[in-house]
Amino acid sequence: MENIPPHFSPDPRPENRDANDTFPEPSAGYPPKPELENKKGNVWIRSITSLALYLLIGYYFFSYFFSVNWALLLILTAIVIFHELGHFLAMKTFHYKELGIFFIPLLGAYASGTKREVSQKQSAIILLAGPMPGIIIGIILLLVSNNHFVEDFYHIDLLKWTARLLIFLNILNLLPIYPLDGGQLLNRLFLDESRLVEKIFVVVSALALGYFAVRISFYPLLVFPAMMLFRLRNETRFDALTRKVEEQGINLEKTYEEITDEEYWRIRNILIENNYSTLRNVNPAPPYEYSAYENRVVSAIENLLQRTVIQDLSWFGKLIIILVWAGSFAVPFLFNMDIPFLSYHAR
Ligand SMILES: [Zn+2]
Repeated sequence: MENIPPHFSPDPRPENRDANDTFPEPSAGYPPKPELENKKGNVWIRSITSLALYLLIGYYFFSYFFSVNWALLLILTAIVIFHELGHFLAMKTFHYKELGIFFIPLLGAYASGTKREVSQKQSAIILLAGPMPGIIIGIILLLVSNNHFVEDFYHIDLLKWTARLLIFLNILNLLPIYPLDGGQLLNRLFLDESRLVEKIFVVVSALALGYFAVRISFYPLLVFPAMMLFRLRNETRFDALTRKVEEQGINLEKTYEEITDEEYWRIRNILIENNYSTLRNVNPAPPYEYSAYENRVVSAIENLLQRTVIQDLSWFGKLIIILVWAGSFAVPFLFNMDIPFLSYHAR
C-alpha cells in the first residue's frame, strides 16, 4: 500500500476554510483508505472449529447430566446442521458472501453471510429456508413411520422420534421471539424507518425470556436477554451514528470499496468524535496518519455501511409469508403429536 506523507495544512484561501479548519478541500489528496482484508479463509476455519467445540461441550454436558444417548445426540446435531444448511443454501442462492455456519455449544447454530443491499423478500426466504425443509421432511417421516414401511419396531420408534424432533425443534425456532428465526422474520416483515417496532419487539422478547429463565430457575439462560439488550443498545448507537454521518452529507448506502478516501477520513473522524467504543486509542485527523488500530476503523466503517433493508415485499407477499409461518404451528395438531416427548429414552 502506498503511503502518502500525511501532513496537510489548512487551505490558505479563506473562502474555502470551515470554522475549525478541520478538513482541507475535497480536491486535496487524502491518504488512501486501507484495503479490506480478505476474510474468506477464516470463515471455514471458524465454522469447523465451532462445530468441534459444539460437539465436545455438548458431549460433556450430556454425559454429565444424562446418560449419554448417542442416537439422540447424533439426531439433534444432524437436525441442527440440516436446519442451518437451509439458511446457508438460500443465502448462497442470493449471492451472499463470506458464508459460514457457526455452532454455539448447547444452543444450536447460525448461518451467516454478508451482502450488499439486503432485501426484505430475500431475507424472509432465507429465514424460512431454515425451519421449513425440516418441518416438511418431519411430516414425510411421520407419514412413513405411521404406514409401517419399516418393519422392525426399534427403527420405527427411531424414525418417529426423529420426525417429531424435526418438527418440534423447527417450530420452536419459528416462535415470534427474537433472535429465533420466527422473531427475525416478523421483525423483517414489519420493519419501519425508525426501527421502533424492532426495538419494542426485542425488549418484549428479552423480558419474556428473562421471566421464563427465572420462572424455571435456569439462570444461565439469562445470558440471552442480556445479549439481546446489549445488541439493541449497539444497534441504537449505530442508528445515531448513521444519522450523524448522513447529516454531513455522506451517503452510507455504499460498499466499502465505493466510499472515497475523503469520505473514509471524514467518517473516521465522526466515529472518533462520538467515542466509538473500539476507537478510543485512535486520534482524529489531521494529521492524516494511519493508527496502529486502523483495522478497527475499517471494521467500524464497514458496520455503518448499508444498514438499510430494501423493502420489496408487497402486502400480498407479506400475507403469504405470515400464512406459511402461522400454518406451521398447526402441524403438531394436525398430526396429533404429543408434545412433551422430550422424555424420550432410547433403548
Ligand atoms: Zn434458523
